[in-house]
Amino acid sequence: MAILEKKSSQHLIELEDKYGAHNYHPLPVVLNKGEGVYVWDVEGKKYYDFLSAYSAVNQGHCHPKIVGAMVNQAQTLTLTSRAFYNDKLGEYEKFATEFFGFDKILPMNTGAEAVETALKLCRKWAYEKKGIPENEAQIIVCENNFHGRTTTIISFSNDEVARKNFGPYTAGFIKIEYDNLSALEQALESNANVAGFLVEPIQGEAGVYVPSEGFLAKAKALCEKHNVLFLADEVQTGIARTGKLLAVDHENVKPDILILGKALSGGAYPVSGVLANDTIMSVIRPGNHGSTFGGNPVAAAVAIAALEVVRDEKLAENAEELGQLFRSELSKYIEESKIANLVRGKGLLNAIVINDSEDSDTAWNICVALKENGLLAKPTHGNIIRFAPPLVMDKEQLLDCVNIIIKTLKEFEK
Ligand SMILES: *Cc1c(COP(=O)(O)O)cnc(C)c1O
Repeated sequence: MAILEKKSSQHLIELEDKYGAHNYHPLPVVLNKGEGVYVWDVEGKKYYDFLSAYSAVNQGHCHPKIVGAMVNQAQTLTLTSRAFYNDKLGEYEKFATEFFGFDKILPMNTGAEAVETALKLCRKWAYEKKGIPENEAQIIVCENNFHGRTTTIISFSNDEVARKNFGPYTAGFIKIEYDNLSALEQALESNANVAGFLVEPIQGEAGVYVPSEGFLAKAKALCEKHNVLFLADEVQTGIARTGKLLAVDHENVKPDILILGKALSGGAYPVSGVLANDTIMSVIRPGNHGSTFGGNPVAAAVAIAALEVVRDEKLAENAEELGQLFRSELSKYIEESKIANLVRGKGLLNAIVINDSEDSDTAWNICVALKENGLLAKPTHGNIIRFAPPLVMDKEQLLDCVNIIIKTLKEFEK
């Protein structure tokens, strides 16, 4: 009988707790199946997924076209390393560069690796093209940024939980307030050795902070004036999430270096990449950078399929339309709500701010109640709950979700 024994959620949570490092604090739900906008737990309960693996699963869970491409390629050739050519990489590089409008792409696997790649590329450009003296390059970053978890990236984070006791830190970063053009201008004017400005077009992890209209376009213009590269971290905001292919498209900004990850694979496989034009990318020569898995044929096949789905299923347009509906429906409720203060976001990257102190556990408790009511979301930074469903959702499903969210929030009104 033992072979038929079903593993309960409790048992599986205990396994992770006992044998895994405690580097996450998951909601107590154990999932074993996903399809489109839905996931199921091991007891068979069905949920709407409103996290989408931090916007990696924009194309929906287990999209048949993406999974098909992955299985097909996995049965043919999985990894050659870049010591040899493979027949999928060039095809993918042509496809992705045309898709996003850049001369070249440098393929990596995870978002943090792509950010690291972008920082290295920016520094090397600064020394070889801009003429900054060796080891003097500075990169401007924003307060409350999230760019990943490597040693260099946490060096310019101001999240103490992510930073503390991981020093010494990498030097060469100047931190300014997000969405503050005069701070950017001042940083550019008072430092001759600025190589780049690294920015999230919307700060996702920080709590879905949308900058003032015009900020990105004006920041880009300031960078151009000072011959400084504009590095857009679109790992979370990119690939249709905010209602355009890229979040910078809302202001017609073309980054000098574009950083992508997460939904570049539709959540099927770790695929990330850095895009830039030849004047910048040409500083990278054999041996300067690399990754055993970066650009492998499975990743290449998966990413082509994932981008085709975004284009063919018009996911950006759908995100734009459903996002408007989501915010307008929730705003109506929030006007008279005592528990929620506001809803903000773009496309289907949204958040509500809970009316309680930042260190309260109200947002967490609301997420636990949402789970009971069939919808999975996670608090980000205390009293903020992010709502980011797969972009393959339809209008009827979205309205169903709005009802679940409002019903749940009302349980906390008392
Ligand atoms: C998730 C994320 C990263 C890091 O991606 P990983 O794949 O987790 O390393 C970097 N930047 C932003 C904006 C992100 O949201």
